Amino acid sequence: MGYRCIQCGFPVRTLYVQYSPGNIRLMKCESCKAVADEYIECEIMILVIDLILHKLKAYRHLLHNVINQETIKFQGLLWKSAVIFLLFEAYRFLILEGSKGKLGSSTSFSSLLSICWKVLMDVIFGNFMFLLTFFFMVKTFFHVPITLSRCNDLLLMLMISSYFKIFLVAMMVWEFPSSVIFIIELFCLSSNAVALKVMTELTMSQCVWTCVSAYAIKFCVTRIPELILLGQLMHDWSQMQCSFIKASMT
Ligand SMILES: [Zn+2]
Repeated sequence: MGYRCIQCGFPVRTLYVQYSPGNIRLMKCESCKAVADEYIECEIMILVIDLILHKLKAYRHLLHNVINQETIKFQGLLWKSAVIFLLFEAYRFLILEGSKGKLGSSTSFSSLLSICWKVLMDVIFGNFMFLLTFFFMVKTFFHVPITLSRCNDLLLMLMISSYFKIFLVAMMVWEFPSSVIFIIELFCLSSNAVALKVMTELTMSQCVWTCVSAYAIKFCVTRIPELILLGQLMHDWSQMQCSFIKASMT
């Protein structure tokens, strides 16, 4: 993956020319004639604010010009991001279960084993189904060719654009209602959709549909016991209604 113009996404050979230390000239895009990447001279806080505001050019800068397979140790970054991402996911699960009172106060080996199993099921299986749905939607419905290199790019894109999960750290220090987690997840979803648009140039509605479907599948597969219980409750309730109607008719 080479450098891109952050305004239009057109590939550019280089972003700047350095004449001497601290003396650089930003290159212009051949397609739109604008400066190819103005963030090179900006403070990092401006980039962070523009990322939070979901500006496409900020995502193009981050995903094409900063995280570039030619200039960084891509595999190392991919593994580190995966570990950090999964740790955040496990912490999110523990906060949610703790707020429901499902973790209990028992410290016995069997209860710890049960919690570990639940975390693994939620984090590994949930995210596996998320990725399966995500790649299926992108490849089958929107016909984006996915090679191994492209697959790695999209994986890293998903993890980097889930940077809102860093706000979970604040929940270690201050006490927030667990509903804050859903707001963080919502921001991650919208951020994933913008990043997918930048990486694939699909339309925004296609990107949103892909991410919403992947998040919906992940939610359903990690809530199977609750969904089965809800189904049983609805079945029992309909049975009670039927028996009540029969009794009132006789
Ligand atoms: Zn351009």
